[in-house]
Amino acid sequence: MARILVVEDEPDLRAVLDFNLREAGHDVLSAERGTDGLSIARSQRPDLILLDLMLPDVAGTEVCRALKTDSATRAIPIVMVTARAEEIDKVVGFELGADDYVTKPFSVRELTLRVRAILRRADSPAPPAATVEFGSLRIDRDAHRVWVAEGEVDLTALEFKLLWTLFERRNRVQSRGALLGHVWGFESRISTRTVDAHVKRLREKLGAAREYIETVRGVGYRFADSPPGGG
Ligand code: CA
Repeated sequence: MARILVVEDEPDLRAVLDFNLREAGHDVLSAERGTDGLSIARSQRPDLILLDLMLPDVAGTEVCRALKTDSATRAIPIVMVTARAEEIDKVVGFELGADDYVTKPFSVRELTLRVRAILRRADSPAPPAATVEFGSLRIDRDAHRVWVAEGEVDLTALEFKLLWTLFERRNRVQSRGALLGHVWGFESRISTRTVDAHVKRLREKLGAAREYIETVRGVGYRFADSPPGGG
């Protein structure tokens, strides 16, 4: 199915991941140290990397940064594996371009489903269609127009960009810092509180579709994977 690199120094966890990912039909490569993980990623080009944050040699965030700043490995999705106490590192991870994260202890089933979702996304990039629909929300990307339940919503250019950024990365948590980078530009000196203010305003304007933008406590925001009720 896919080739997955597991960078994890805890032997038990590595064995569990290895077993379950193989059960799910994947090829599994594994590394105990960050530097080994980096060289395997560069030489083997896995389809996805599960990256522990606390590694014996270098921090997972450094491995992530190295992978995401190298054009040869930039496109490989990275799922950060963190412990709860590592919240700050997790946010840094997203700013470095990690695609998702799981928190220890995690259910193997949840992890396998997340891996599958990310691989599916990587496999089928968003269709070029100008208009996309999501529940009661309809977005015309080229015309920068948005409708909720057939009523047009008047968004500023910035609000549109914020909505599109969240929508395009749906089911993936976006930290305030990452949103600042994508929507306002990394050079921006605007505070992350500005992000909250704009999300609040955007939600107000979206009315019934506001619930599609979820708050992820301590991290940022996430656009829902599918509209509630499956519609
Ligand atoms: Ca560890």
